[in-house]
Amino acid sequence: MDVLHNHIAGLDVPAASGATMDVVNPATNSVIATIPDSGEGDVHSAVGAASDALQGSWGHATVAERADLCDAIADCIEARLDELAELESLDTGKPIRTARSIDIPRAVANFRFFAGAVRHQQTGFHEMADALNYTLRRPLGVVGLITPWNLPLYLLSWKAAPALATGNAVVAKPSELTPMTAAALAQIVTEVGGPPGVFNVVHGAGAAAGAALVSHPTVRGISFTGGTQTGRIVGAAAAQSFKKVSLELGGKNATLVFDDADFDLALAGAVRAGFTNTGQVCLCGSRILVEASLHDRFVDALVARVEGMRLGDPQREDTELGALVSRAHREKVERYIALGVEEGGQIRTGGDRPKLPDDLAQGAFVRPAVITGLAPTCRTATEEIFGPVVTVHPFEDEAHAVQIANGTRYGLSASVWTTDLARAHRVSAALDVGMVWVNTWLKRDLRVPFGGTKESGVGREGGAYSLAFFTQDKNVCVQL
Ligand code: NDP
Repeated sequence: MDVLHNHIAGLDVPAASGATMDVVNPATNSVIATIPDSGEGDVHSAVGAASDALQGSWGHATVAERADLCDAIADCIEARLDELAELESLDTGKPIRTARSIDIPRAVANFRFFAGAVRHQQTGFHEMADALNYTLRRPLGVVGLITPWNLPLYLLSWKAAPALATGNAVVAKPSELTPMTAAALAQIVTEVGGPPGVFNVVHGAGAAAGAALVSHPTVRGISFTGGTQTGRIVGAAAAQSFKKVSLELGGKNATLVFDDADFDLALAGAVRAGFTNTGQVCLCGSRILVEASLHDRFVDALVARVEGMRLGDPQREDTELGALVSRAHREKVERYIALGVEEGGQIRTGGDRPKLPDDLAQGAFVRPAVITGLAPTCRTATEEIFGPVVTVHPFEDEAHAVQIANGTRYGLSASVWTTDLARAHRVSAALDVGMVWVNTWLKRDLRVPFGGTKESGVGREGGAYSLAFFTQDKNVCVQL
């Protein structure tokens, strides 16, 4: 069993109180590690270490030095890809194949991308008849990064890379459920020569360690990814000390399938959007809207496809669906499946617990579910379930499809499946979301704006948006 520590000023340290929390492998329900159950004092030490780093050499690091550090981190993650993928799979219950092909490679890409982005960054220059203005771009200072359990290293690196590339010092608070790769990343930053205090990790509960980070007066920015309700608390707390805040929150995303779509492409896309990472991706298309003329044929094909997915041991190379992140989360997902039945839905497949070998019998598994016959306005169809559950709804025409898609308090993403180009543009423009994919899903260019509308969040991440978030501009006006 691993004993993980906080990483503060380049050193591994326990919580000041000595308290620890267990980390459970959700596929086997066995304890695989302990983490410090950190409190305000530990956060204060980490913020102090980060401030010291900014006072020291890191505060004067050149763009090239910061970019080189990010490249070195990327190289080291890449060299340890298999080991990190295994940690991610044990910690989250996700298939090792997913961790190896998506999570860890994306962490490598994030560090390489922001190393390049900061090398090419430009700032403003505004000429007047008798004066010149130029813009200095400066890091915020100490920033807090708070991340969820579904894509632990992928999302932490998505924030840490631009934060470091732009010269900030970081205090990260990973989800208490999935701390392993954040701990490994802290080791890596120190191993490749990151100055002490540049990248600190404080483990522990959100309501204690996370809240202390958000309210710490020295912290100048909080980049948060997590649930909408937590985001509301984080936003309110951060406002008390006027911190810059980025909130990437929940989603209830629609997959819109028109009857002119390429059927096989749309079906494969809907399955991928619905069930990637066992439905635990904020961008998952958990509401499938299908043109009425196509609905029954599509549902039959969807059910057949979902029943063919291989569920089981995350460590097996051919597993497509692993465990949910915890037994508590499985209970939440199961409550929504039961609610779907109460609300009049028919479970066309799945929704129950699979029969698995003894070593997985206590794991947090649930069979992927397809539910039909629900009103698109009901709770099951509009609230975020964050599990392997899709609801399917027929629509009459384009306007009806857009009305259903927009009928939630979320506005993160959508995918539109059609061969009519004009319709693709019209519908994309009418959807009240931050991101639309047409005839694809989760195709990512790291330069594009990433974020949601309504209760899916505030702000955008990605490329220039992330660089802008982690910096503040200062104008200098020179009289000629
Ligand atoms: P939570 O909101 O429960 O937790 C997110 C993080 O916040 C965790 O590190 C948590 O710590 C911490 N936290 C909890 N309470 C506080 C607090 N009061 N102050 C500061 N930090 C706190 O989300 P989940 O981990 O359950 O992740 C799932 C959610 O994340 C889903 O809603 C999903 O849609 C969303 N998400 C959004 C994405 C986006 O880009 N829009 C991407 C991925 C996920 P701890 O776990 O230790 O309690």
